[in-house]
Amino acid sequence: MGQTLNIGERIELVPMDNHCDGISVALYSHNGAAGDGYLVHTYSRHRSAQERVGFLQKAMRVLGGLEEGEDHLLRFSCGHDHEQGIKRIFLEACKLSSVDELHAKPLHVLDKKSGLTVQADCNGAGVYRVTAHGEGNDADRRINLIAGGLLKLGQMVEVEGHLDTIAFPCSQNHDAMIGLLLVRSPNVRAALREQEMTASRGVLAAPSQQ
Ligand SMILES: [Zn+2]
Repeated sequence: MGQTLNIGERIELVPMDNHCDGISVALYSHNGAAGDGYLVHTYSRHRSAQERVGFLQKAMRVLGGLEEGEDHLLRFSCGHDHEQGIKRIFLEACKLSSVDELHAKPLHVLDKKSGLTVQADCNGAGVYRVTAHGEGNDADRRINLIAGGLLKLGQMVEVEGHLDTIAFPCSQNHDAMIGLLLVRSPNVRAALREQEMTASRGVLAAPSQQ
């Protein structure tokens, strides 16, 4: 009889993990003992596979400000699923391979296109306002575009009357996630394309097929 794991629904896949001999790793939404959460899983029997899975879970905790329960599931402290955000956290974690790289990202980033430093300030209750600093061009347009990028990548909500301000629907702050999303927000189209490509590329093979 084949080994069947009930690990829930796969929501994101990296078909070739370049930091672990090209094994497939995926993120699952799983119903655990303490409620719904997320789990990194691979079917690979590569000798480093489980170590890699452990690293990715740890990287997601740091990069995304997630908590890992006793059931090993990752969750946001607010209890919200933030499914779009977690996909991005997983994809970014898979680009790393060393614990030295595991730091929460700052709430500012250099926007190469304008030369401005773009910052996300937390106004509390999950509301973030984007501002730009330094010598550069087109500040208002870049601010609105980057706020729009955060909106899409983080599945955030608009704040009426403010193109530079966005909010998490859970009304809780998520600084780590904002810092991570801010890196990709200036080029949101490329980020979303990357997500679509990984989603359409192959399926995670079950053990019997490997
Ligand atoms: Zn939340």
